[in-house]
Amino acid sequence: MQHPVKELLARDGPSFSFEFFPPKTDDGERLLWTAIRELEPLQPTFVDVTYGAGGGTRDRTLSVVKRIAAETSLTVVAHLTCVAATVEDLQATIADFADAGIRNVLALRGDMPGGPQATWEATRGGLAHADELVRLLHGEGDFCVGVAAFPEGHPESPDRETDAKYLAAKCAAGADFAITQFFFSAADYLELLDRVADLGCDVPVIPGVMPVTNVSQIQRMAAMSGAEFPQWLADRLQDVADDPQAVRAVGVEVAAALCEELLAGGAPGIHFYTLNRSTATREIYAQLKSVQR
Ligand SMILES: Cc1cc2nc3c(=O)[nH]c(=O)nc-3n(C[C@H](O)[C@H](O)[C@H](O)COP(=O)(O)OP(=O)(O)OC[C@H]3O[C@@H](n4cnc5c(N)ncnc54)[C@H](O)[C@@H]3O)c2cc1C
Repeated sequence: MQHPVKELLARDGPSFSFEFFPPKTDDGERLLWTAIRELEPLQPTFVDVTYGAGGGTRDRTLSVVKRIAAETSLTVVAHLTCVAATVEDLQATIADFADAGIRNVLALRGDMPGGPQATWEATRGGLAHADELVRLLHGEGDFCVGVAAFPEGHPESPDRETDAKYLAAKCAAGADFAITQFFFSAADYLELLDRVADLGCDVPVIPGVMPVTNVSQIQRMAAMSGAEFPQWLADRLQDVADDPQAVRAVGVEVAAALCEELLAGGAPGIHFYTLNRSTATREIYAQLKSVQR
């Protein structure tokens, strides 16, 4: 049974949720489904499935969300981007989501096929920004719609204040909740909450947490997304760099401490970037007394 995420978020206690990406290979598929089956018993509030960078994995996203909805007990959020799609293309994908019983969509602009560093250009006949996709989704059916948020500011934004205004504009367009990019400083997130509250946006903004289990991978992802990889964390990980177990233990400890600080500061829950693996997420979860059911 697929529930609107906004209703699930309105329930007592913090939410927690897990993000997956659609795999490209049979081995990747097995890894994903092992992670899903190992995380399902934790009864997350929802799980979500990304939409390929460059808009290239439409069918893979659709097939994973369909299977999660049909074969598991999980409520699933399908990501959707405006990349390389006309409004008609988007309407067709949205209709496919609706036919599969999907009720929750994360509305994103996405990045150019060249990556986040490439200058954004809307597709002819398509949409320029996520706020337009939020409106389109509400116009196409009874969807609960989430959007992206950036505690450090989106890399294209001139400053965090401007960025918060555009998040508030997505709320005004009808966003029901937001999920943030990963970050490592609770203060950045809590300041974003204050900024958007001042702008009259009161939707739940769920912080995204990335467990660090592999230093070079996270540094690469941080560089790609424009997120800051803090020196103190790099130094702590560098001290144990030749011991993968110790790197993982530091990553889990740091992420668990961040989660506790976020929840104590008023975060509505925690969103875990799982990278299609369950172990680090389960280890962090086990350390979080406040979210356990
Ligand atoms: C939780 C999360 C999940 C993600 N999932 C995916 C995914 O599945 N697939 C994928 O390809 N990418 C994904 N991304 C990356 C995202 O697509 C990129 O960061 C993209 O550059 C911005 O998307 P957005 O939806 O925030 O865009 P927008 O909200 O459109 O913002 C993009 C930039 O334009 C500004 N802006 C916003 N609205 C307006 C407006 N109306 N007029 C002028 N400027 C405006 C913003 O401040 C920002 O600088 C995800 C990001 C997050 C945080």
